[in-house]
Amino acid sequence: MRFVLASHNQKKLRELGDILGALGIEVVPLPEGAPEPEENGQTFEENACIKARAAAALTGLPAVADDSGLCVDALDGAPGIYSARYCEGTDADRNAFLLANMAGQENRTCRFVCAIACVQPDGTAFTVRGECEGQLLRECQGTGGFGYDPLFYVPAYGCTFGELPQEVKNQISHRAQALKRLAERLKPNRQE
Ligand code: IMP
Repeated sequence: MRFVLASHNQKKLRELGDILGALGIEVVPLPEGAPEPEENGQTFEENACIKARAAAALTGLPAVADDSGLCVDALDGAPGIYSARYCEGTDADRNAFLLANMAGQENRTCRFVCAIACVQPDGTAFTVRGECEGQLLRECQGTGGFGYDPLFYVPAYGCTFGELPQEVKNQISHRAQALKRLAERLKPNRQE
């Protein structure tokens, strides 16, 4: 079986390719120049479905797509689905903006969320979700990872995602958990 991944991100392609490859599923990239659909959903799941549906329609293949972000409880879930575009500029700018919006907030609980949608060419679809709980620090710690990683403190490991070795993050992250659930759902002899 072959799936198209609705992303041009090489790292995601490799990560997904490794996990689905173990199930005998090949993951191929979107064709060069494939148009990007507008992500106008209201949830991670809706946005993942929008991307996967567009890829399935374009290629005629089953498609997978993910959508992820950071949800901060004291900000009613923001930046959430707007994580990548929380403010203009770089990851460092978005981290500074988030810290400014959290000034004076004692409740620092937050979680990374990842939804993955799987869409068949006939339109049937399902989604899976992974979440990773953490605490939002008051300043950045660590230089690894990307995005909000340096602010995301994981109590069980006593450090931020920005300080964790990539292989450890890849085992426990919201994306890793969603991918495991996707693999479970796609297992050939799965009992419903
Ligand atoms: P995307 O779904 O991969 O496009 O990610 C959306 C945005 O959420 C990213 O641009 C980051 O700002 C944030 N994000 C998602 N996953 C992570 C992560 O593992 N670490 C840090 N930031 C993340």
